[in-house]
Amino acid sequence: MSGRAAPFFCPYCGDEDLRPHEAGHGAWECGACNRAFRLSFLGLLAKGLTTGERP
Ligand SMILES: [Zn+2]
Repeated sequence: MSGRAAPFFCPYCGDEDLRPHEAGHGAWECGACNRAFRLSFLGLLAKGLTTGERP
């Protein structure tokens, strides 16, 4: 994951009317609720990748 993933739904109102925000990298704006937000990659989880097996 590179941090360039695009959101499909607004996290605030759930609408799909999202477009890139002028603030740039990872910033999006919602045309439905007029909110701008930024997605950022925080890091990998300590538990690592799951293989489908349960401990
Ligand atoms: Zn919205």
